[in-house]
Amino acid sequence: MNAPQVIKMYAAREEIYPREIKGRYASLRWVCVWLTQLAFYGLPWLSWNGRQAVLFDLASRKFYLFGLVLWPQDFIYLAVLLVMCAWLLFLVTAVAGRVWCGFACPQTVYTEIFLWIERKIEGRRSARIALDRQPPSLKKFSRKSAKHLAWGAVALWTGFSFVGYFTPIRMLGTEALTFSFGPWEWFWVLFYSFATYGNAGWMREQVCKYMCPYARFQSAMFDRDSLIVTYDAKRGEPRNPRSEGGCIDCSMCVQVCPTGIDIRKGLQYECIGCAACIDACNSVMDKVAQPRGLIRYSTDRAMAEGLGARDIQRRALRPRVLIYTGLLGAVALAFIAALWLRTPLKMDVIRDRGSMGREVEDGKIENVYRLQIMNTTEAPHTYRIRASGIPSLNVASDAEVTLAPTETRAVPLRLRTEHGKAQKGSNTIEITLEALDDSAIAVHEKAVFIVPR
Ligand code: SF4
Ligand code: SF4
Repeated sequence: MNAPQVIKMYAAREEIYPREIKGRYASLRWVCVWLTQLAFYGLPWLSWNGRQAVLFDLASRKFYLFGLVLWPQDFIYLAVLLVMCAWLLFLVTAVAGRVWCGFACPQTVYTEIFLWIERKIEGRRSARIALDRQPPSLKKFSRKSAKHLAWGAVALWTGFSFVGYFTPIRMLGTEALTFSFGPWEWFWVLFYSFATYGNAGWMREQVCKYMCPYARFQSAMFDRDSLIVTYDAKRGEPRNPRSEGGCIDCSMCVQVCPTGIDIRKGLQYECIGCAACIDACNSVMDKVAQPRGLIRYSTDRAMAEGLGARDIQRRALRPRVLIYTGLLGAVALAFIAALWLRTPLKMDVIRDRGSMGREVEDGKIENVYRLQIMNTTEAPHTYRIRASGIPSLNVASDAEVTLAPTETRAVPLRLRTEHGKAQKGSNTIEITLEALDDSAIAVHEKAVFIVPR
């Protein structure tokens, strides 16, 4: 009888030492690193109208985005924005595969920064491998400590910047200098720092392979015309160190791969489309004076049918891509129009449930309300309150109210009408709030006026 076979469901991680590579795509990745990190680290320090330009102030439930102030009622805009981002990701994936993963994903960007630090402190690939194989020594300890200190500093600055989007960053900086963060600030700064340090320093390709949800479903957005990083097996095989134009089996493409795969084995789910192997192979082809492109961006169909660049471009505009683009364009236009037409004033009318309509001294009928008014602009405004819907209806309380920038206030409102002008029971009326300095800033809300039977 055969002995039972043991299938291991877990494979221990093998350390990957990606070799540094220079080339067109490596430069493009560094451009992405600089742009995304300048934006991420720099944005919280920008000022606008005397306050932080981008601030998600959860305590007062206001989101500041340059000149735009979003309130909880405006979360629909943020939801639509997220939907648009997801759609854009679908579109980009359908056209250019995992280009997001390879160039702009935070995991890639921070891994690139952490790898750069590692190279500066521990040296190039061969030096790092040798260092890791060395027995413990003072030199090894000092190099490793320096690397982890530098990683920790970048991670802490990243955590600090992240929290700076939710708490005014200048105030946070002062608190940091005196170690006087509040408990939530401590938690989020340390949590985000720890996540950055762990993901970019230790886990690296593991995050892409096992944790990233996008990696799980991105294959559903691919088709045979999506761009992928491919090895031209027709040209490359059989491998031979003296091959002319084919693969010389130098293994450079494997050594530079951050996920440790061999692209010559075909498309694999671990491939994040970073194109480091393209840069590596192109530099090898340059050295052996052969044409570039043994590994290149191409499509599954182009490889199978031998299509050229022009056919690949033509097939990029296929129905799936056109539909994604059309939908995304329509939603983006609607989003911009909705933001443009948004009235920077909000009003909720709350009837005073304690008192129904009542007759007051001069024989008039009075109803009492509470107006919850929000001035969503960053300028003060004086508003006039009007009411209509019943003959002789007028405002018996203050008809004007002044609100400071971004102020919310509850304002009592008393409406009166003469006896006999409205039917008994409930009458529908309209309450209008209009800025005195700009009649375009106005809101109208329906309400009920009750006349006692
Ligand atoms: S870098 Fe190019 S030539 Fe070298 S092993 Fe990879 S595919 Fe072959
Ligand atoms: S196979 Fe090439 S493109 Fe894919 S992850 Fe490795 S180096 Fe990047």
